[in-house]
Amino acid sequence: RKDVGHITVGSQEFNDLIGGGIETQSITEVFGEFGSGKSQISHELAVTVQLPEELGGLDGECVFVDTENTFRPERIRQIAEGFELDVEEVLGRIHVARAFNSSHQILMVDKINDLIQSGKNVKLVIVDSLMAHFRAEYVGRESLAVRQQKLNQHLHSLQQIANTYNVAVFITNQVQAKPDSFFGSPTKAIGGHVLGHASTYRIWLKKGLAGKRIARLVDSPHLPEGECVFKITSEGIVS
Ligand code: ATP
Repeated sequence: RKDVGHITVGSQEFNDLIGGGIETQSITEVFGEFGSGKSQISHELAVTVQLPEELGGLDGECVFVDTENTFRPERIRQIAEGFELDVEEVLGRIHVARAFNSSHQILMVDKINDLIQSGKNVKLVIVDSLMAHFRAEYVGRESLAVRQQKLNQHLHSLQQIANTYNVAVFITNQVQAKPDSFFGSPTKAIGGHVLGHASTYRIWLKKGLAGKRIARLVDSPHLPEGECVFKITSEGIVS
């Protein structure tokens, strides 16, 4: 793959874990229980993608597909100020798209295509959260096959955006914490193997002691499994 770019997640160790930051032409999935930091990393990336390359960004704009009303301009403000960026300018380069149901979410990808075609230099697409609508709408065993098919279709079109326009795709996925899951592999990830195959990078977020977070890279085809510790501060993600 040519011209792959990287976007810093704000922590050197975290970047190192995933090969230098989240990658363009790839889908990166973070999964973990509520409060593990998925939306916080999303907000961080929405800012850092705008940084110049020498500071870990791609000098690009961001599309934030918000499915659960988690986007917080105030949070962007804090993080942008931490980087001494112009807050209004930063907010202006984040295109927030609220998805009201799963069909709307799927159609949103066409809108992203249009936005890029119209000349916006989008380098990052965030879907926070990927699964919420699908989980709520396709309930029960009998609807699982349809859900997987719709999800596959959705992920496929996201991957196409990533490839066609050299964009990074970042998706969040809430999974229930099991008491023993801290010691093993999270086999019951919502979305299951559908996501396992689709996302090139999968990062499992866990809550650690004293407000720390642990990021673990899992199922990566070309990077070693490993972990790092990071913190969420008012100015964003730090080591
Ligand atoms: P969910 O699945 O419920 O959406 P999530 O993984 O997206 O959860 P986040 O919203 O990313 O969770 O993380 C919330 C946590 O981030 C809070 O519990 C808090 O610990 C931390 N946090 C949020 N804002 C700040 C801040 N301004 N300063 C420090 N820590 C913060």
